[in-house]
Amino acid sequence: MLWSCILSRINYIVSYIVIANFQIYIVINIFGLSAAKLLKASGLDPVVLEARDRVGGRTFTVQNKEAKWVDLGGAYIGPTQNRILRLAKEYGIKTYKVNEQENLVHYVNGKSYPFKGSLPPMWNPIALMDFNNLFRTMDKMGEEIPRDAPWRAPHAEEWDKMTMQELFEKLCWTRTARRFATLFVNVNVTSEPHEVSALWFLWYVKQCGGTMRIFSTTNGGQERKFVGGANQVSQCMARELGDRVKLQSPVYRIDQTGDMVVVETVDKQTYKAKYVIVATPPALNLKMHFNPELPPLRNQLINRVPMGSVIKCMVYYRENFWRKKGYCGSMVIEEEGAPIGLTLDDTKPDGTVPCIMGLVQSFKQLLSLHLLLRRICEIYSKVLGTDEALHPVHYEEKNWCEEEYSGGCYTAYFPPGILTQFGRVLREPVGKLYFAGTETATEWSGYMEGAVQAGERAAREVMCAMGKLQPNQIWQPEPENDVREVLMHQITSWLLIKKNEQSVEKHSEVSRHESKTLFTINDTVKKIIL
Ligand SMILES: Cc1cc2nc3c(=O)[nH]c(=O)nc-3n(C[C@H](O)[C@H](O)[C@H](O)COP(=O)(O)OP(=O)(O)OC[C@H]3O[C@@H](n4cnc5c(N)ncnc54)[C@H](O)[C@@H]3O)c2cc1C
Repeated sequence: MLWSCILSRINYIVSYIVIANFQIYIVINIFGLSAAKLLKASGLDPVVLEARDRVGGRTFTVQNKEAKWVDLGGAYIGPTQNRILRLAKEYGIKTYKVNEQENLVHYVNGKSYPFKGSLPPMWNPIALMDFNNLFRTMDKMGEEIPRDAPWRAPHAEEWDKMTMQELFEKLCWTRTARRFATLFVNVNVTSEPHEVSALWFLWYVKQCGGTMRIFSTTNGGQERKFVGGANQVSQCMARELGDRVKLQSPVYRIDQTGDMVVVETVDKQTYKAKYVIVATPPALNLKMHFNPELPPLRNQLINRVPMGSVIKCMVYYRENFWRKKGYCGSMVIEEEGAPIGLTLDDTKPDGTVPCIMGLVQSFKQLLSLHLLLRRICEIYSKVLGTDEALHPVHYEEKNWCEEEYSGGCYTAYFPPGILTQFGRVLREPVGKLYFAGTETATEWSGYMEGAVQAGERAAREVMCAMGKLQPNQIWQPEPENDVREVLMHQITSWLLIKKNEQSVEKHSEVSRHESKTLFTINDTVKKIIL
């Protein structure tokens, strides 16, 4: 068990884990002191090869004086994400609840409708029935789909031939339901309903616990954040592994023709290992040269699973004006041409640094930084009904489409026809190569939780191959984890302090983080006077 814990953590952060039995090196990601002790006692010495100059991959926390800390990548965790919560607990990383005390707001047909709960209410009874039917049907269809083998669902072939757009056209009677359904796909998988297989999307929602769990803040996937940022989990693991983690080591060649697997990095470092765990998004394996070549199904798979597209945008304000107006900061925005579909309050748990987080979808990303910020503020102003939204004091954004070692985000999606044809080889080892990464998970795939599940499973597969575990020990359920949290302070104290401060600044600071300069975070923040 301890072994598996150790090995699993490794994957979570890393891209490659090479495990060498006795004497040699190589890889693994991270493990705790007790894990290190165990590794040493077992004669293992793993190494982690990471392409970037930082750990964390699709999680990325930046610190600066304006934002204090900000998660520009993966951030939210919630109930049933027990593995990532377990790791956080072990490192003493606390969580806090995302603010949802006041009303959420649904903006549609140019009007704002405050509401409580997960999904916006529909006033038109026909639209309401349609809406309820749509979500109930999606969950019902999900029940038929096995989490670990969606290609075995009774209607797998039929549903995999269909896009979600086609399914919505079949299921929805009203434009209202169809429009919201589009937003539901955009927000959850950063792609378009016409791009994704219905089988894959229904599976994705199901393995997150259903439509309510995946979309909700309270009692859902967005319930909490880590105090200090999500990257801490990887950083803690990396600290434990010490110099076993090799940064700036992009792997480009994996040779399995000899007794040992030979892994070569771009800077010509060579590592030899008994086993290798590849924990990147599948499509990034296209950058690698395999000898012998990958089997045809695996080769086709990595050619056919693109990544979603998202820009994460944080707009900072002097005051938390939306709470004064009775809004919690969660906006569901349905307007043609609006860059943002969903927002959440990103104010710090102590009430400081008022901020709204929004996600910009794929087809809206061609705007310049200034234009994008202006368009975001304009729509916030319309939805919240105040000009205060037009006067940000700071801005942070991260365009994940430009990240060479992610290829997009949050996760890979399956276009029609791919899951049934190639899905079954997602986790299938190739010789001494084992595959991890969130895309290979069966619970909360696409999320940090899925990355941990996948890492642990792949590590146990390797241990099984080494004769240290039985095959029936590879998949292990995770006990429910209680969370350590800090309480959200009331915002009033922040407002009082701010009111006594000087006049409103005449400019905003905006920053767009460059992919090549992520390591020296503070130096890379570009400040642009609007
Ligand atoms: C904007 C955004 C918002 C998100 N929101 C959430 C959220 O709220 N909650 C949540 O749980 N998840 C969220 N996610 C998703 C979450 O961040 C990912 O699911 C998770 O981080 C995936 O972890 P992973 O270890 O599988 O892959 P990655 O984090 O992608 O790690 C793979 C690693 O492999 C490295 N690598 C790639 N190629 C090579 C190579 N050739 N050689 C060596 N190394 C290589 C990469 O640099 C990377 O570090 C979000 C992601 C983004 C971008």
